[in-house]
Amino acid sequence: MADDGLRELRVNAVELLRQPGAVKEIDTTVAASALDVEHESLTGDISVSVDLESMNDGISVRGTVSAPWNGVCRRCLKELGGELSVPVDELYQIDVIDEEAYPIENNQLDLSPMARQTALLELDQERLCRSDCAGLCPKCGIDRNDETCDCDTTVKDDRWAALDGLQLDD
Ligand SMILES: [Zn+2]
Ligand SMILES: [Zn+2]
Repeated sequence: MADDGLRELRVNAVELLRQPGAVKEIDTTVAASALDVEHESLTGDISVSVDLESMNDGISVRGTVSAPWNGVCRRCLKELGGELSVPVDELYQIDVIDEEAYPIENNQLDLSPMARQTALLELDQERLCRSDCAGLCPKCGIDRNDETCDCDTTVKDDRWAALDGLQLDD
């Protein structure tokens, strides 16, 4: 069977918990299909780069989950793409006391559910080409980042709109 990287995401937790303060580095790339991540914006494999640290109440996991993606700007529809890199800071516990924590099962810390959820959540985010993207004109469709038009896109106040139609008679 081909090594899809999943094996590297499973860590012997007992060994680590025996040495409080011990740190283990995981840096690996996993096939998206092995993680069961399917998303129209995903264009490649998912990378997990984290430090596992043995704590009193479990094992902390800190680092990043990254995924290559492409998509379009929510406002101007410009094509975007690149590498999404999401910081993660999670806790794994044998007895899950912290309700946000992931379980350590059969003495094993499995990073794949964390990687899967993090990647899917991030891929679902809507994005902008830049924070002040002006978007497209709703009337003529030009890209207002590059061009200007004379379309009247101000929202009319209905009270004045009613007056516009009045003929004043003296
Ligand atoms: Zn844009
Ligand atoms: Zn316009």
